[in-house]
Amino acid sequence: MTTQDTCPTCRIVQVVCHWSPFKVAAWKRTALLVLSILLIAGTLALALYAFTSRQGNGNALWLLLIPLLGLSVLGLVVALRGCSTCVGRIFGGI
Ligand SMILES: [Zn+2]
Repeated sequence: MTTQDTCPTCRIVQVVCHWSPFKVAAWKRTALLVLSILLIAGTLALALYAFTSRQGNGNALWLLLIPLLGLSVLGLVVALRGCSTCVGRIFGGI
């Protein structure tokens, strides 16, 4: 398990994605990168909408947005810096 010493995101991914490791595939890194960027953009757009419209209970929306943003940023970091095991793991069983 030498990858755990070199990869900066292995430890975080193991905590956040506490399911068993999934298959490593070359296309997953690109897909994860694209999905993360889309998710970040979508979350920020939703946050901007919630902030500008100021209706309903905004606190409940923030509780949804903050973990979503955290996960998408983690996905982006893993896609850029993580090892193949991290990418396979965070992407799940597809
Ligand atoms: Zn890793």
